[in-house]
Amino acid sequence: MIGIVSDPVFMKHDTGGYHPESPLRIQYLHTLFAPKNDPGILILDPVPASVEDIELNHGRAYIGMVSRTASSESYVDLDPDTVCCPDSYHTALLAAGSLVELTRMALAGEIETGLACVRPPGHHARKNDAMGFCLFNNVAIAAAKAIQSFGVKRVAIIDFDVHHGNGTQESFYARDDVLYFSTHQYPFYPGTGAASETGAGEGKGYTVNCPMRGGKGDGQYAAVYSYILKPVIETFEPDLILVSAGFDAHAMDPIGGMQLSSRGFAAITSIIQDSAQEVGAPVVYALEGGYNLNALKESASCVIGALKGERAPAIDPLYFTELDTFINTHAQMWPLALRYV
Ligand SMILES: [Zn+2]
Repeated sequence: MIGIVSDPVFMKHDTGGYHPESPLRIQYLHTLFAPKNDPGILILDPVPASVEDIELNHGRAYIGMVSRTASSESYVDLDPDTVCCPDSYHTALLAAGSLVELTRMALAGEIETGLACVRPPGHHARKNDAMGFCLFNNVAIAAAKAIQSFGVKRVAIIDFDVHHGNGTQESFYARDDVLYFSTHQYPFYPGTGAASETGAGEGKGYTVNCPMRGGKGDGQYAAVYSYILKPVIETFEPDLILVSAGFDAHAMDPIGGMQLSSRGFAAITSIIQDSAQEVGAPVVYALEGGYNLNALKESASCVIGALKGERAPAIDPLYFTELDTFINTHAQMWPLALRYV
C-alpha cells in the first residue's frame, strides 16, 4: 500500500500571480488521485506539525517570524524568491506534519511507501532562514523526528531535485546518523553542493554530492544512481530513506537545465526502491521543485508506477567524465562501496 498525501489545501500557500512555485502544481498533481479509485493507494488527510517538531530543525525566533506572517494583511517577502501569504504558515505546518505522519506510518508498517504531494517545498530552508521558495525543511524535520521519536538510528536523504538542497546538507553536515546524497545541476542556484563538500567532524563522508553540469539526461542519472547511490546506501544501511523528490531536472522544466524524461524519474525511483529493499528500509518521498505543470504530473505518475513495481523500460547507464570525479571523491569515504566501480 502506498500512502499518499494530496489535498487542495496545499494550494492555500499563495505566492502571487507569476511565481513558478504556484498552487497550480498541486491542482495538477491532485488530478492523479481524484477520483480515489486505486486499491493500491491510500489517500491520507494532511496533519499539521507541532511547533515542537518544527523546532527539531529550526530556531524558535525564525518560526515565530514565519508565524507572524499569518496575521499580515497581504504578501510578505522572506527572501527575494520566497513569499508568504496569510495562509502560508499553516500550510507549511501541514506540509511538514504530513511528511512526519507518512514517515511514522511507513516505519510502523501501516504503509509500504509514502508520497507527500505538499508545498511549500523544503530543501533550501535553513535553520533560521527561508530560502528558495522554502519555509520549513520538511525532509530535515521528518529525519530528525524519526531519530528522536520513531526508534530510527540512521536515515538516508536522497535529493534528486535539480537544485542542491543546501538547507538539508547544513542540518546534518556534522552528523554521521543522517546521510545526505544529492544529484544537482552545478554550478547553479544555490551555489553549494561541490563534490568536495563531504561533511565535517563526525559527519565526514556522510554528505555525498554529485554535482553535474547542465544537459545530463536519463543515462547519466541512471549511472550515478546505479554506481554511486545504490552501493553507498547498501553500505550505510539506513533504517529509513527520505527522498527530496523535485521534478525540475525534467527536460521541459523552465528553471532547470537538465534533460531527464518522465520515465527517467521512474528509473531513478526503481533504483532507490531496489536499494531500499536490499537494506529493508521504508522510503518516503516528499515533493520539492518541478515547474512545468504537465511534466510534473507525468513524472509523478511515473514515480507512482515505479513504486507499484511497474517496470519501466530499462535505461542503460551512460558513462560521463564527471562520474570519475564522484567515484574518486566518494571512494575515499566509501571504499567498500565504490572500490570496484
Ligand atoms: Zn529545485
